[in-house]
Amino acid sequence: MILKLNSPVEKVKGVGKSYVRKLTDQGFVNVLDLLLHFPVHYIDFTCCNKTINRGKEGLYRIDVKSVRISRNYKKRISVVRVYGQFFQENIQVIFFNQPYLLDFFRKHKKIWIYGKFDKRENIFQMINPKIFTDSSDRTVLPVYRFIGSLKSGHLRRLIENIFTALQDDFEILPRYLIEKYGFISIQDTLRQIHCPEKYSEKRIDHMKKRFVFTEFLLFHLELQKIRSVFRKVKRIHRYGFNDKIRTSIRYCLGFELTSGQKTAFNDIINDLKSKFAMQRLLQGDVGVGKTVVAFLALLVAKENGYQSAFLAPTEILAHQHFFNAKRFYRNAKIDIVTGSTSFKKKAEIKEGLKNGKIEILFGTHALLNEKFKFKDLSMIIIDEQHRFGVSQRAALYYKGKSVDLLVTTATPIPRTMLLTLFNDLQVSKIKSGPKGRKPIITSIVEPNKRNSFYRCQKAKIEKGDKAYIVLPLIEKSDFFSALRSIEEESDYYSNIFRPLPIGLITGRNSILEKERVLKAFYSGELRIIVCTTVIEVGIDVKDANIIVIENADRYGLAQLHQLRGRVGRGERQSYCYLHPSSNVTTSGRQRLEMIVSSTDGFEIAETDLKMRGGGFVSGFQQSGFLDFKVGDIKSDYRIFLDARRDALEIIRDRSLENDFVRDFLFDLEKKIETISFS
Ligand code: ADP
Ligand code: MG
Repeated sequence: MILKLNSPVEKVKGVGKSYVRKLTDQGFVNVLDLLLHFPVHYIDFTCCNKTINRGKEGLYRIDVKSVRISRNYKKRISVVRVYGQFFQENIQVIFFNQPYLLDFFRKHKKIWIYGKFDKRENIFQMINPKIFTDSSDRTVLPVYRFIGSLKSGHLRRLIENIFTALQDDFEILPRYLIEKYGFISIQDTLRQIHCPEKYSEKRIDHMKKRFVFTEFLLFHLELQKIRSVFRKVKRIHRYGFNDKIRTSIRYCLGFELTSGQKTAFNDIINDLKSKFAMQRLLQGDVGVGKTVVAFLALLVAKENGYQSAFLAPTEILAHQHFFNAKRFYRNAKIDIVTGSTSFKKKAEIKEGLKNGKIEILFGTHALLNEKFKFKDLSMIIIDEQHRFGVSQRAALYYKGKSVDLLVTTATPIPRTMLLTLFNDLQVSKIKSGPKGRKPIITSIVEPNKRNSFYRCQKAKIEKGDKAYIVLPLIEKSDFFSALRSIEEESDYYSNIFRPLPIGLITGRNSILEKERVLKAFYSGELRIIVCTTVIEVGIDVKDANIIVIENADRYGLAQLHQLRGRVGRGERQSYCYLHPSSNVTTSGRQRLEMIVSSTDGFEIAETDLKMRGGGFVSGFQQSGFLDFKVGDIKSDYRIFLDARRDALEIIRDRSLENDFVRDFLFDLEKKIETISFS
């Protein structure tokens, strides 16, 4: 059977029914999705160690002498011990809880192992290495980050199967661009990334560049199109701003606006009075009070009898905003739609939007679904914009005629980048937050102090503090063995904090479960939450005042700053504690020191741009400015600019298009045409 790049994953040999679920759950729908899951690194069999390089990962070819297994049934542990030889040196390789390896080592006398040797009990030992047999006829093996429970080896086999069946001359880029950048066909490029015959980092980087470039090019084409249409859209919706609205603002707000909020709100009111639709970016550090300003804008729309929508980047956030909005607006008719909203409820919402019963709709990108049609949509808020791509922005535009748009972001996007990304938007900045907040105290906790540190936190929590503890992983990972996981640590935490209850929040919990935990945390029933970085964006629990970040060196500066922004939102003194990994690098350490020394988001973002490189938990959690799949707007910024130039050229001279680009632009234009302008 022949495979195409757009063939569904179930067509791939080796993908059974259960795999299909696992893959599609993670967003891998077709062959190309799988092939864009690039290897995280490669094992090069031509580059094997000749001597033992202690404490450093590497490849060794060993002779197996004997193998033994010991089991402890009570503790449910098994240990396979392989005794072998590497050149003249006696060595030991140890595997925990993989009893099936016993047979493997009885069968194979010469194997490759990949991992690091350490000297224990006077002998070189390696624990849980990756193993390869001689039967592998390839000189270079790719290693993949797992997808769900699919391990690297599975993925390697699936991808090999794809390449034996793949025949596709599909092309996205026009010929002249392929020549200009020295690219080769998509199929061959992917083959060189996944099954290189010889390992060359430079070559592979160049191969990846093709996809980064393509992604950026399409982004810029779309951005240009949208801009040309939406620049200076004539206003349809007229707003009155009278005493009734002023009174209801006073009624909704429980506090005085800060001067920054007042200025931003004035900018918005002026936009709403102007001849053109509002297109404004509201920028301000975490916690300065952007969301409140957005709520006020929605209030103006509501009081003028229009509908509006509030788009949040995650389900938790959508629910949190909805929860706050219910208290804020009191008598407004508001509702919420997310991916997990039931069919019945969705049908109700659809009806409510059409007949105008719903005044403000909160939600995630689920609300972009075309079946939701508003009676008279006048305003859209996109919260924490950096998580949304341009196409989502477009989808929202398509929902209403000449809607007023406000996007908020806590990412202090540097000016030059702001211009290339958002030069169709006007910018309001809120520089400082409400008064009376004490600066957050940030410190690094050394590994040998971990126990006493947590005992001390327990005492504080018993006196009324509230803490988040953030871990990088849900489950233990062999590949990232230095990273702590919730699975491994939860016993530790329950022991230390006993009898205090602990709430868990990860991407795996259902939204109901997450909400239940957050509510309990909000009310104080729960005072400790152990979680992954799902809490990173925008979660607002005022009196949470401690955040502990495990393996903190593995995050980028911007992400650490976001995480820290979860505390320091109320009157209580707040603390941020950074736990470095056991194998923290120099640059990782530097990042932590940067976070300790500065609370200025702008300064941190600038440093982040300069300090790029190594050590991020990339792929786990995108911390980039926009959701690009393969490109990284920071490290690939040059390509980003190249792509922009080429996109502008194509828009100017349409004879440069190829079939794909022509169809792509045609589709965009058709969508845009369906909107009529007065
Ligand atoms: P952001 O969206 O910028 O991260 P929020 O709008 O969520 O910030 O505000 C952070 C917290 O500060 C919220 O709990 C909000 O109620 C509170 N807040 C906002 N503005 C003020 C103000 N002017 N005075 C007092 N508290 C405020
Ligand atoms: Mg916010």
